[in-house]
Amino acid sequence: MSSYNEEQAVTLEIIRQYFSGPGDRKQALLEIIRPYLEFRKRTDLFLEEHFADLCTAKCYQSNLSACCSKEGIVAFFADAAVNAAVSSEQSLDRITSVTSRPNTGMKCVFLTPEGCLWKVKPIVCQMFLCAAAEKQVFGGNPDLQEEWNRLEAEKKTFTWPDKPVLFDELEKIFMDQGYQSPLMYCHNSPGLMMVKKKAGLL
Ligand code: SF4
Repeated sequence: MSSYNEEQAVTLEIIRQYFSGPGDRKQALLEIIRPYLEFRKRTDLFLEEHFADLCTAKCYQSNLSACCSKEGIVAFFADAAVNAAVSSEQSLDRITSVTSRPNTGMKCVFLTPEGCLWKVKPIVCQMFLCAAAEKQVFGGNPDLQEEWNRLEAEKKTFTWPDKPVLFDELEKIFMDQGYQSPLMYCHNSPGLMMVKKKAGLL
């Protein structure tokens, strides 16, 4: 198993362990992430309306799937926690299954013939637009570009830890229960720690 797959597998395992603890922890987490899920829904609608046809024709029908062609994408601990909270046990079993064997292809380990295994995919994937698609959709349409910029800015209110944000909070919830994951970048990435320090949060 590659170190990437191992990190993903370990992270999902501890999230599932946490959910199996006392009380309805999954439901409690769903309450906390509700505003984020609402943001993701609005982003989905924007992408569906303005990019789906183009991406389907350019990438999926040609099997290029350029957005998913990296062997391992950056996923935060919070990405995995959010996805686990909204997914069935069977869906999570499939993720565990693909991460527990070597990735022999050149595409993302989570990409299957039916699409991505994540119900709520990592935020890096959600917000990625290739240059060609951006040019075609936003070119000559500053209002649409502005709408996308607002979604980008809103994303940072959940992810960028220069103030208390959901992605940092989710890591802390699990850390307070004794769980550690290499994907807890808000607590172990020197760059993000510096962001928090500069903002006076440490
Ligand atoms: S996690 Fe899903 S959306 Fe992201 S690169 Fe992998 S297959 Fe594509």
